[in-house]
Amino acid sequence: MFLNKKYSVGVYIRLSREDDDKGSMSESIINQKSLLLQYVKENNLDVYDIYIDDGYSGTNFDRPGFNKLLKDIELGRVNMVITKDMSRLGRDYIGTGNLIERYFPENNVRYIAVTDNIDTFLDSSNNDIAPFKAIMNDMYAKDISKKIKSSLRAKQKCGKWVGGRAPFGYRQDKNDKNYLVINKNQAIVVKRIFDMCLKGLSFFKIARILTNEGVKTPAQYYSFLWKKKYNLKYGEWNAKTIRDILTNRIYIGDMVQNKRSKVNYKVKKVVKNKESDYIIVSNTHEAIIDKDTFYQVQKRIPKNVGRSTKKENHLLDGLLYCGDCGHRISVLARRKKDNRCYTICNYYRTYMKEKKCSTHSNNYDKLEKSIINSLVEMCLKYIDKDKIENNVLNNLDEVNKVNDKKELEILITDIKQISDNLDAIYIDKLNKRITEDQFERVKLKLERELSIKQKRYNELNNNINDTISEQSKNKIIIEYIDKFLSMKEPSRELIINLIDRIEIFEDKTVNIKVSFG
Ligand SMILES: [Zn+2]
Repeated sequence: MFLNKKYSVGVYIRLSREDDDKGSMSESIINQKSLLLQYVKENNLDVYDIYIDDGYSGTNFDRPGFNKLLKDIELGRVNMVITKDMSRLGRDYIGTGNLIERYFPENNVRYIAVTDNIDTFLDSSNNDIAPFKAIMNDMYAKDISKKIKSSLRAKQKCGKWVGGRAPFGYRQDKNDKNYLVINKNQAIVVKRIFDMCLKGLSFFKIARILTNEGVKTPAQYYSFLWKKKYNLKYGEWNAKTIRDILTNRIYIGDMVQNKRSKVNYKVKKVVKNKESDYIIVSNTHEAIIDKDTFYQVQKRIPKNVGRSTKKENHLLDGLLYCGDCGHRISVLARRKKDNRCYTICNYYRTYMKEKKCSTHSNNYDKLEKSIINSLVEMCLKYIDKDKIENNVLNNLDEVNKVNDKKELEILITDIKQISDNLDAIYIDKLNKRITEDQFERVKLKLERELSIKQKRYNELNNNINDTISEQSKNKIIIEYIDKFLSMKEPSRELIINLIDRIEIFEDKTVNIKVSFG
């Protein structure tokens, strides 16, 4: 069927992150390639070149393989493009539509999507679905971000770095974001920290030395947003950062991930996972610290920073923050003489001589009691409010939901109708029933309408999902509150779920930020 013209074929193959998830190998480079080469062979075509984009999304067209293909088309080297299906070309409706409807015809290029049965030179009914398929691909891309999450864990299990910015001492390889390479300047600091620890210096001392020398902290490199939010001075090293570095196996070349996870979907707070849940893969990148040094250092690390290992567990541990400087507030060991324990601002404690903050000293047991009392009050208030609001809101919600669903159904019909119209004018143009100018004008108008409808469709869809998750979140919180109010001794788990943070000021004012209300 290709005999009447000599074709020089550009075989285009694309694989992106969004394909990782499908679980099947059907989209893999090798599979696309073998399918396409078989097609070429069966039809006696000549391949000019194979263009591959591995790891590029279909939502834009800035891909190296694809750009090379366009260049070869413009140089007249390629006059037929073959892909497995239309979504390999792109997942953006306007862009893909433009290619098929304008760019390819203008450059005398015949386009074939093998499994979609699309051939732009054939007068086949399959071609009519091309614009609609492009819309489907576009919608698919918008839904994809959700699916990417589950593939992250699979990558972690292969020892690939997926945590975004690299840990202090490393950077992501320019050619492979999932691979870590050493950041020389930071690695020098990591080595020094291990050396100082071997020499017997405490975490506090190491932190002080580095700060006084003006060594840049990890936070300064990354200038965390949350630190800005809480006005924390991130130019100073602290004991916790030192401890985190000294205990991280990433520095002996092992990939350690999945160390933290979210408490639940209501509470944004991130908690440490059990060590048995860590995903560890050995020897995935270059080590900064040799194993001997590392394990020697591990023996020197106390279980709790700067405190005796017999330390009691306080209900509010980890939730207390200094209202004045933003650093954490710790609880000191119980005094033998009067069996009391007191709070202290960590920043004050680390830089006592420099007087960077003040003591923030409170009798912890009293503080805990008054905070729990306040929490009880806040919970009771919330439940009352919730009861009243729920009665009103439930009715409103039901009405809204029904209306939204109706509108969605109408939108789906509209979108289908517009794409049918797009098909129709496309055929009209091919049959020269309308001029190129008319076609362009109508097409532009239809596309504009289509994008408005699509936007509204996405908006409504998100709304519906949001309402559902908002309701279930609230249910969880109410459960926590009920449990908390019925308990004589509140459990730490409940407290963590109900309180985001507690700020203590020098004048002893306390500000409780709860995760509800
Ligand atoms: Zn402070």
